[in-house]
Amino acid sequence: MSAQQTVSNDSPMPSKHALPSYLHADSLGPWGSYLQQIDRVAPHLGSLSRWIETLKRPKRILVVDVPIEMDDGTIAHFEGYRVQHNTSRGPGKGGVRYHQDVTLSEVMALSAWMSIKNAAVNVPYGGAKGGIRVDPRKLSRGELERVTRRYTSEIGIIIGPNTDIPAPDVNTNEQVMAWMMDTYSMNVGQTATGVVTGKPISLGGSLGRREATGRGVFTVGCEAARRIGLDIASARVAVQGFGNVGGIAAKLFVEAGAKVVAVQDHTGTIYKPSGIDAHALLEHVAAQGGVAGFAGAEPLGDDDFWGIESDILIPAALEGQINEKNASRIRTKIVVEGANGPTTPIADDILRENNVLVIPDVVANAGGVTVSYFEWVQDFSSFFWTEDEINHRLERVMREAFASVWQVAQENDVSVRTAAYIIACKRILMAREMRGLYP
Ligand code: NAD
Repeated sequence: MSAQQTVSNDSPMPSKHALPSYLHADSLGPWGSYLQQIDRVAPHLGSLSRWIETLKRPKRILVVDVPIEMDDGTIAHFEGYRVQHNTSRGPGKGGVRYHQDVTLSEVMALSAWMSIKNAAVNVPYGGAKGGIRVDPRKLSRGELERVTRRYTSEIGIIIGPNTDIPAPDVNTNEQVMAWMMDTYSMNVGQTATGVVTGKPISLGGSLGRREATGRGVFTVGCEAARRIGLDIASARVAVQGFGNVGGIAAKLFVEAGAKVVAVQDHTGTIYKPSGIDAHALLEHVAAQGGVAGFAGAEPLGDDDFWGIESDILIPAALEGQINEKNASRIRTKIVVEGANGPTTPIADDILRENNVLVIPDVVANAGGVTVSYFEWVQDFSSFFWTEDEINHRLERVMREAFASVWQVAQENDVSVRTAAYIIACKRILMAREMRGLYP
């Protein structure tokens, strides 16, 4: 698709068998995984299943060219995306990822998972996601700012505080959100703090947002442990990805008495059966950029990470990490999906057969978007809450969402993922049905 081309699924499609070419993702990619997850939930939706095609097509896709002048005077072009998967229940909402391997198919899947997640925890948003195909580690600070500002200008035609609200994701942070907010505000001629969430506190950000996803992972991890009679205080935890999500979740589990026995990130894998000092590791990662070289644990081969015995395994890096190649080697009791889409559908089945309880991303990592919602509400009312209030409300949302999906899973004898999809898809499709089709 060419730059600046938009596609909307509000226009009539010829038939459900004639999907546009960009929807024919190969079954191994994240979009393929998402389509399989939707197929699994369809039989549980009753009469609402006649709307199921709505969920298989993003509402709107924008692909943009992002040209910037590099520090050495050359001109570089990067490809950027913003996908609004569904806005039946409210404005689009979802993060922006900077990564050299970002693809349109990946951003489509991530936007769809946001629709499901926002509906599963019942925040009044649709789903969206964005990304730029760039390795930000290779950019200077000035280049990163220019990429961010040009991208924001390009997608400015479809984002806004009432239409689509970006947030941080892999390799984006509070500074990137501040540049996005400033660029959008300059273009519309007024300061619009509510256009992004995950901003610095001084610019309308929310207390507790930075830790919210990891905190939510910890809360549902504890809920799941309680349901299967696992004591957190003696649990062994393995974490893949030690960034915003994995690092915070690990720290909270350690503070609750658990042992983090293994950590893997893009620089390597470390292992210590008696427990890694999570605080010291956070400092090491902040200084060195990764877990490799951490003196308080022994290095391990990356592939060996999946065979380590644990009670709770937290994938908190990228999609497709637990797949048919490693799923049968995993020796844990609970997988709590901090990342989006870390488990492929085949791996999901293998884990279920092996009695591993999987708490799906659309519930487990919903803490981030929940506090983003709190941030957005605070921005609109220009009235800011205390961190205690935020953490308390976050915990309540996460516990209630977990309890609902757990109950549906028990009642229907389905996985927790399918239960979450049943709840979420019913909410989205009910909204679709009540709104009706326009014209
Ligand atoms: P981050 O950039 O802070 O951290 C990413 C981590 O993943 C880093 O530790 C990195 O080293 C590791 N990683 C990258 N490639 C890897 C590889 N090939 N093997 C092992 N580790 C690798 O990102 P984050 O915000 O922590 O996001 C992590 C995941 O959580 C993503 O899937 C993201 O979509 C999801 N998520 C994030 C939020 C949020 O609020 N930040 C909310 C919901 C979901």
